[in-house]
Amino acid sequence: MNIVKGVTYRCKYNVGSPSCDLYGDFIVDCSGGNSSSTKWLNEGFDLIVPTEQMYYGCGSVTFIGERFKTGDPMIDSITMGGCTVNVPTRNTGMHVSPMRTIKTANENSSGILSALICHCVNSEFPPNDSYENLLEWTKTHLPSEYYVMLKSTKVLGPLVPYRRAINQRKFLKSLGNKWPQNYILLGDALYTFNPQYGQGMTHPCRLVREFNKIFNTNYHQLKDISYIFNRRASSISEECWLISTANDWKIPTLKVIRM
Ligand SMILES: Cc1cc2nc3c(=O)[nH]c(=O)nc-3n(C[C@H](O)[C@H](O)[C@H](O)COP(=O)(O)OP(=O)(O)OC[C@H]3O[C@@H](n4cnc5c(N)ncnc54)[C@H](O)[C@@H]3O)c2cc1C
Repeated sequence: MNIVKGVTYRCKYNVGSPSCDLYGDFIVDCSGGNSSSTKWLNEGFDLIVPTEQMYYGCGSVTFIGERFKTGDPMIDSITMGGCTVNVPTRNTGMHVSPMRTIKTANENSSGILSALICHCVNSEFPPNDSYENLLEWTKTHLPSEYYVMLKSTKVLGPLVPYRRAINQRKFLKSLGNKWPQNYILLGDALYTFNPQYGQGMTHPCRLVREFNKIFNTNYHQLKDISYIFNRRASSISEECWLISTANDWKIPTLKVIRM
């Protein structure tokens, strides 16, 4: 029978620490986009999970900064906002959001600590080696008002790069009864999405609501729950997938891998 007995865990900070087995009647795997589930399901259950990955050259540089007046009231009034990627004409964008107010004697300061992100698709990556180089990139890759905004921003922390986001989906519904009867995937472990469209949190929230409905219905047996969930999750996930990937098909260097 396809049953997952539980999880084995050990402290990852102490190399060689002993592992412990934790048993459970029903296992919810929410270990994120790097979930090892496909690997051990293949090794332990001889199960090949059909998977699709879309690589669209996503990258970002995030940092915290204090914004100062630019002299342009329109730009200074944007406390939260930015410009989105609009493929294939513009493959780069930026976003600013306020984090908290700060005490300052400088009358040119906005008095707000902001989180700023410059991002791209199509591998047109913003540099993170220096703020000067990031500003140069901004000059040529973003509308001029965002260059002016960033030029008047004092960076207060590291420029943090991230280049690993992909769209990825696993087709569990098609596996039917071959899928373990007491085990489900949730969140990024099941689907990951282009962050630009904000489905990463919405998707697991919708799935959990559905899961809760199934669990609270008294007439389902535990052994049927993962199959019912996989069927219902499939249509929710596909909605989020369509929203998140439709534009990515226009990206010139898009690479799709089906396994
Ligand atoms: C740059 C970027 C920006 C994003 N912006 C947005 C946004 O604006 N809006 C939005 O909705 N979504 C956004 N997302 C997506 C969102 O962050 C994810 O969809 C969401 O975090 C998925 O949650 P999760 O719990 O499934 O996975 P995760 O948040 O990845 O959590 C999984 C957790 O499991 C832990 N874990 C993994 N393996 C093990 C193990 N073996 N033992 C113990 N623990 C383990 C990991 O350490 C991690 O803490 C963004 C993603 C990225 C990369």
